[in-house]
Parts: sequence; structure tokens; C-alpha cells
Amino acid sequence: MQNLLHNLNPEQLAAVTLPAQPALILAGAGSGKTRVLTTRIAWLIQTGQVSPAGILAVTFTNKAAKEMMTRLSAMMPINTRGMWIGTFHGLCNRLLRAHYRDAALPQTFQILDSQDQLSMIKRLLKANNIDDEKYPPRNLMYFINGAKDNGLRAQDVEAHDDYNRKMVELYEIYDQQCQREGVVDFAELLLRTYELLSRNQPLREHYQSRFKHILVDEFQDTNNLQYNWLKLMAGTQGAVFAVGDDDQSIYAFRGANVGNMSAFEREFKVENLIKLEQNYRSHGHILDTANTLIANNTKRLGKNLHTDAGHGEQVRIFESTSDLQEAQWIIEETKSLIAEGGTRSEIAVLYRSNAQSRVIEHALFSAGIPYRVYGGQRFFERAEVKHAIAYLQLMDNLHNDSAFLRVVNFPTRGIGARSLEQLQDAARQYGISLYAAVPYISGKAGTSLGAFVKLIEGARFETQHLPLPEMVQVVLDASGLITHYQKEKEGADRIENLEQLVSAATLFVSEEGFGHDAPALMGPTSKQMAGPAITTQDGIEVLDADAPLPAVMSPLSAFLSHASLEAGDNQAQAGQDALQLMTVHSAKGLEFDAVFITGLEEGLFPHENSQKEEGGVEEERRLMYVAITRAKRRLYISFSQTRMLHGQMRYNMKSRFFDEMPEDSLKWLSPKVHPPAHQWYAHPKAAWEDALGAGSNRIAQNIVKSDIGWRIGESVAHAKFGEGVIVNIEGSGGSARAHINFGRHGMKLLDLSIAKLDKL
Ligand code: ATP
Ligand code: MG
Repeated sequence: MQNLLHNLNPEQLAAVTLPAQPALILAGAGSGKTRVLTTRIAWLIQTGQVSPAGILAVTFTNKAAKEMMTRLSAMMPINTRGMWIGTFHGLCNRLLRAHYRDAALPQTFQILDSQDQLSMIKRLLKANNIDDEKYPPRNLMYFINGAKDNGLRAQDVEAHDDYNRKMVELYEIYDQQCQREGVVDFAELLLRTYELLSRNQPLREHYQSRFKHILVDEFQDTNNLQYNWLKLMAGTQGAVFAVGDDDQSIYAFRGANVGNMSAFEREFKVENLIKLEQNYRSHGHILDTANTLIANNTKRLGKNLHTDAGHGEQVRIFESTSDLQEAQWIIEETKSLIAEGGTRSEIAVLYRSNAQSRVIEHALFSAGIPYRVYGGQRFFERAEVKHAIAYLQLMDNLHNDSAFLRVVNFPTRGIGARSLEQLQDAARQYGISLYAAVPYISGKAGTSLGAFVKLIEGARFETQHLPLPEMVQVVLDASGLITHYQKEKEGADRIENLEQLVSAATLFVSEEGFGHDAPALMGPTSKQMAGPAITTQDGIEVLDADAPLPAVMSPLSAFLSHASLEAGDNQAQAGQDALQLMTVHSAKGLEFDAVFITGLEEGLFPHENSQKEEGGVEEERRLMYVAITRAKRRLYISFSQTRMLHGQMRYNMKSRFFDEMPEDSLKWLSPKVHPPAHQWYAHPKAAWEDALGAGSNRIAQNIVKSDIGWRIGESVAHAKFGEGVIVNIEGSGGSARAHINFGRHGMKLLDLSIAKLDKL
């Protein structure tokens, strides 16, 4: 016990050992919030105040949950597998599995990831003859998810005009379709659990009295529904211990509400508000940079952060002419970091937008530096893996139409669009799933569809006694997927990924404690159910919180949930010492020895979308604060004069955030001022040629024509718009006009004989 507490400072110690009452730990980045939360769990258990079953801990990602369990196991001999530590989604999934009947779900309900959700919405619009230009599927998806995140069913949404009334109607149809298919989307996992607990008193009371301690990390990023969910779980007795940092609230675009922190303080009558002010992660210059930057935000709860670690190195700033050059520079710096004894996995390259990673990945690949991308395309989202998963989903739940449509004719088996339309009509007419509608189709279409049904049923029969990994193997072969990809020119990689799926299944059953021989399709036996189940006074069966997954679902169902909820790590690369690439959003909570933050350009970081919304730039600034505070010892920040993004060349102004960081803590690796324009052209291979491609001729002509003393690429200052870069020049002499990118003021077309421009 001494061990557990002796590495804490007085405020941390106070937080860890608070009595069982609502508490809020409000503290800046790297001050030990997550560490305090984990230590508190260990302390509560070790001092006998609560059993492991009485703890409910919510983390932001699955990865964070796993890390917390690893740390707990290191602190004390405890089996963390049965503990309720996970994300909101993971925990809700678990509750719904245990109480699927009360939640009005089939036992094998499946989780729709956002890709599946979108395709389902598209299908639904088509089936209902809705103009998808007027009602873009993506908008409908945001509408539905937004409503659910606020706890609203279709009938609860107020619609004031025809357009919105239609959206609400579509929301209703969508929910009915999900129910018919036995699928739930991410937001539904939460809403369903919330509704279940609100209306089912015995169940609610059971969990309220079990979870004596509820601990929530990254509390600033909870949305309204999650907050209400917590209130429901806590009841009047539950001690909610929330840790968070208002300066790191970066998910407003997904409905997160930082106002939950003050609401929590008020509604839970929090008497224990603890601030942690010492940062243990970063050296002084890095911390100063973060503190000075975030001080530009107006709406803050206010806290300080200092370190004893000394100034350390200054933050290194690099300006490049192109994104290619930026990537090259990252590689050079990485090589020297490694040469100095650094570890690749302790180096992170962060970017604001996923689209930035392609150039960096390409450069790393060419240089032979192993890297790992987080939150890019997930392993389980690759097309071939999705196909295999769809076969498995269908075997687990025959009524999942999304899965059915994905593979009914993949690999091709002569089932055309006409046959499918016929099938969909029949399904609609009888209000049944596509699978169930097959017998209604006659003729040639009926025969081919019938053969597909036989294939699925045959696979189910053949695998009924097999453990999960073997089942996956059989399905890969029986479905014809392997043969299909063998014929494809570039199919080798895909086959490799399919084989990875077998490994993933093997790893999964052993990690989750399913017996290696446990048949994949077999749900919990009545014996297992009888063991840990508790019956409340209303005859409701409640599983004990310690019940591990095998007691709640079949290996196949559990594996399919895992495939939908797993947060984007490519398991194939796990374990390798590799450079870490990710968006700033996915870097939340993590720390690295050295960090590169790339693309500090107006319009990219802060992102252009943020400038249209109120408070948008403040959110971007918080994002930058998160990025900076990931670094322990060394921080690099870069920006590039030109960048190819989404097929378009961008001419950039450096981000306003540079003006908000303390000059003394920064070290410019390249000249801070733009070089004179002619020097730009002294680099024949620079961004211009690389990226402009066919357009460069036109520009070359313009350069010759520009007899008025201005050149493309030149930096200028304008009294009203500030600093800008000339992007193009049209016409000549007195009629010459220039397109100038003024960063936050956007692109302007100015008459060069009239506009008052100064050279920089
Ligand atoms: P973030 O806001 O980024 O999530 P955090 O507040 O959760 O940060 P932690 O990740 O818990 O901070 O801690 C940051 C680092 O400081 C970790 O490496 C942690 O082990 C270390 N640390 C925390 N408290 C102490 C302490 N009292 N003594 C030594 N190291 C500490
Ligand atoms: Mg943390």
C-alpha cells in the first residue's frame, strides 16, 4: 500500500484517497489525472472499500482501457478481466448483451459501424424514393446520430418545417429498419442502455447498488447522453470521480459538451474539487509553449501548470517549401533521433487531417523506416476483411440485411441487380429480412438466391462444433473469398489480411478467456447463466458484474462486436518498434519522447471549417494544446508554403498559432522570413514543379508576362488583409491582377495597379 501511494504529490494523494463522494479533478495535461484515477481504483480495492465488481471505470478508447487494466495488474494481484473498465460503447454493449431481452434486441444483435450505417441509410433513401441530393445520406446520418447523442427518439425531435419533418420521418424509418435487422449503431448502444435502465427500476437499482464507485477519465469530452447515463448509473449513492481538463475538450463536433463539467459540479454538489498543477510529462519550454498558446482562449475554467523538470530544449520550428520537403525533414530528424539512442515507438508524427499522412507515409516507406498509423483505415474496415466479417455476421444473424447485400453476390454468383430489386420488394411487402424473403422469389433468380442461402446454412452446419479460428478459416474457403482473391492481380495482400483475420480470432478467444475448444456459435449455456446470475424481486435475471464475456455471449458474437468497436489498430503491425503516426485527435491522453506536429498552416491548423463556427478557433487552439502537451523532451512544429491536399495545391500562410507561442521557447530551424521570391525559383525541383504538374506551363507564361514587378510565390502585405502570398497573376501591364491568398481572410483577386501592396 505504501508502494501504491508513495509516488504521489500531496494533491494527487488527496485525490486518490478522497472519501466515497462525488469528486472532480480538474487539471491540465500531464498532471497525472489518468494516473490518479488508476491508482484510486487500486487503492479502493486494496483497502477493502470495494470489490473489483463494484467499480465502473470509463475510458476514452479501448486502448486506454487495456492500458488501465495492465497498470492495475502491475499494482496488485488482481484479475482485471471481469472488471467493468471500458469505453461507454464497450460497457453498453456488455450491458445490452446481458439484458438483450429487456432491451428488446435479439441475442445476436450486431453493431453497425459508421460505414455500414451510411450504406444502410443510402439503401433506405432509395427504397423510399427520396431524392438523395435534397437529403444527402451523410446529413441524415449526422441528424440521426446528433438526435441520439442528445437522447432523442424520432418522436421527441421537434421539426418546424417540411424539410425537418421529413428528416424525422426518415429517422423513424431508419430505427424500424435497424430493429428489423437486429442491428444497432454506435449512438444506439448508449441510448438503448439509457432507456433500458430508465424504465426498468429493478435493473437500475441493481446496478446502482453494485457500482459504488464510478470513475470517468477525459470527462470534458462526454456528450449529453453519456452524462445522463452516468447520472442514471450513479443514482443517489454512487460516488462519481470525474477527471478532466476543459482545455483539452476537442470533440464538440461529435456532440461533446464541456459544460458537463460545471453541470457535474453543480448537480452532484461536488465538494471535492481538486486541481493538480504540477506537470510531470514535459520539459519547461514545451510547457511554456502550451500555456502561452492556450492563454489566448477566453472561455476557460482556469488552472496553472508548472514543472520542476527544467527548461529542456527549445521547440524546433521548421518551414518547408513543400509537403514533400516537410516529410523529408521528418525523416532526417527521425534518423538522428534514432542515432542518438531514441526508440521509434517513442516518436510521434501528428497531423490535423488524415489526408496529410499519405505523403509522410510514402516518404517513410521509401526510407525503410517502420511506422504505424493509428486511426487510419482500421484493419476491420478493409474491404476484404469486411466481406469475410459479413459472412460471419450473416451466420450469426440471418436478418442482417447490410451483411446480406455485401456478400450475396461477392464473389459473383450470377445474382444481378434485377434479382436483388425483386428480393427487396418482397422483403418490403412482407416486412421481413432479405434472407427470409428468398423463398418468395421464383425462377432463375430464386434458384441463385436459394443457392446462396444453402451456402450460408451449410457453413453454419459445418462449423457448429468448431472453435472460432477454425470457423473463420472454413468460411474464408467456403465463401470462395480466397479463390476469388487468388485470381486477382493484386490479391496477395488481401489474402494475407484474410489470414490475419484467423490470427485475430485466435488472439481474441485467448485474451477474452473463451476456452480454445469452445464452439464459436454456442451462446452461454444455462449452467453458465445460472452461476453468476442474480434474480431481482421482479424475477429479472441479472448477471453478476464479474461475469466474463463467455457468460454473456457466444465467441462469434463477441468477436463481431469486437470487430465493430475496436479502435483502429492494425493488429498485423502490433508490437513492432515503429514510428507512431496519428491525427491530433487520436493522440489524446498519450505521451512520447519526441513529437512532430506538422502542417501548422492557416486553413489547415486552425482548420478552415473552424473559422465559420462560433468558438471554432478556440477548439482548434485546444487541439493544438493537446498536440504540444504530448511531448516529453523534444517538440518539432512544421509548416509548409505549399501542400497538395485532396488533389489541390494549397499556398499557405503560416498558422496564427505561431504568433501565440512564446518567442523565447522557439528555435527556428530555417529563416523565419520568407526568402525573396527569386530565390524560390532557384530550387528547380521545389514544390512548384512537383505539385503543379500540367499547370506549371501556364504559370511559367505568367511569370514572363508579369512585367509589373510582382511574382508568383512572393509574399506581400496589404493594409486590410495582412500578409499574403501571390498565387497567380493574370494579364499584364496596367491590367494585371493577382490572386492572393491572405490566409484567414481567404483568397482575393486584386488589381495590381490599384491595390496597395508592400513587398515582404
Ligand atoms: P493528459 O491530460 O494528457 O491525459 P494526465 O493528466 O492524464 O495527462 P498522466 O498521463 O496521468 O497525466 O501523467 C503524465 C505523466 O506523468 C505520466 O508519465 C505519469 O506516469 C507521470 N506522473 C504523474 N504523476 C507523477 C508523479 N507524482 N511522479 C512522477 N511521475 C508522475
Ligand atoms: Mg490522461
